[in-house]
Amino acid sequence: MRRISILGATGSVGQSTIDLIARAPDEYEVVALTGGRNIAQLAKDARRLNAQLAVTAHDDCLADLRVALQGSGIEVAAGAVALCEAAARPADWVMSAIVGAAGLPPGLAALDQGATLALANKETLVTAGPLVMARAAASGARILPVDSEHSAAFQCLTGEDPAQVERLILTASGGAFRDWPLAQLASATPAQAATHPTWDMGQRITIDSASMFNKALEVIEAKEFFGIAPDRIEVLIHPESLVHALVGHTDGALIAHLGAPDMRHAIGYALHWPTRRELPVARLDLAEIGGLSFQRPDPERFPALGLARQVMARGGLAGAVFNAAKEQALDGFIAGAMKFTEMADAVAASLERAEAEPGLIDAEFTLDNIVMADGLARTWAADYIGNLNKR
Ligand code: NAD
Ligand code: MG
Repeated sequence: MRRISILGATGSVGQSTIDLIARAPDEYEVVALTGGRNIAQLAKDARRLNAQLAVTAHDDCLADLRVALQGSGIEVAAGAVALCEAAARPADWVMSAIVGAAGLPPGLAALDQGATLALANKETLVTAGPLVMARAAASGARILPVDSEHSAAFQCLTGEDPAQVERLILTASGGAFRDWPLAQLASATPAQAATHPTWDMGQRITIDSASMFNKALEVIEAKEFFGIAPDRIEVLIHPESLVHALVGHTDGALIAHLGAPDMRHAIGYALHWPTRRELPVARLDLAEIGGLSFQRPDPERFPALGLARQVMARGGLAGAVFNAAKEQALDGFIAGAMKFTEMADAVAASLERAEAEPGLIDAEFTLDNIVMADGLARTWAADYIGNLNKR
């Protein structure tokens, strides 16, 4: 029996992971499930999968979780430390599907115990790439990408040396506002931004898709995971979301990965790697689809992509600042405190403030320094949003 833990089990990726595990209950022993405020879902899945441990991120939800799991024999816990303890419980395979920088400490705890880390939480590599890769190397843990583009590229790179590839192309749907007139973007609402044309995902990543902050994070994630130079990583808008990534080799060959937009493919690939198993995903009928289209992203419409280039060129803790400022700006947009188009300005302003802070970006890559840079960036982005509202 393989021992499995799922961090962020109640979310979109977490639920898709559970869908796969629940189809073969005899193959898996579920160690820990973690969630946030959706206690009913967490308890239901913990009972169904007979987990050893269920953890909520919030202390004030512990009593509810305890009641919901009464008589089940399943252990309960709450809070950030308990999340790391859950991730550190011996397991063979751990899904990292918490959203945001909060996923980093439990991800590191899973790596430290040597578990294979199925990585959906892209923020882990964006904020702490060199630290994460070093911790994996130290324990011998393997990281398998679950972000669909990175899983696709990983599959295209089987048997190849990533350092030798000429280019890596990540595709992007273009999000909810791909075809909106530019002038209208400033009036976009959170509900409009949270409607994805092709993928069904959590609210935050869906809004990040509309702004392309999601693709910006993914470009950095690809640089950190594959070790490919930033100028070899390209982004192409592909509205159909059927080609997920392409790898260009030095001989001119371009290897593409196609599949239905269903996260259970990338999750299932990481679950069964290095083998392939039948997965419950739709098969593409290319004759029915008829055509695939591609466009270059417009830098004016998607300033997040330019900011990602700036972050990669700068290196160090710029990724942690970038991600935290983005998370704060996203909170501001969702709360109605700023316009859709102002999110990139808030992030750019935070990166500037970080640059003016002596030694911050070039500080040593430790979890403490990353947490400090993250906290400062959130404060700076919040200041920026506060100043907007004084206008
Ligand atoms: P989601 O919002 O649907 O779920 C997030 C999960 O994290 C939930 O279980 C929630 O309870 C938990 N969580 C939220 N805040 C937390 C905190 N502070 N501490 C601990 N737990 C917390 O998110 P999602 O769409 O499933 O995305 C999860 C991660 O996977 C993100 O990093 C996202 O970028 C990445 N990802 C998602 C998809 C997708 O299809 N949804 C695709 C690729 C990558
Ligand atoms: Mg992706």
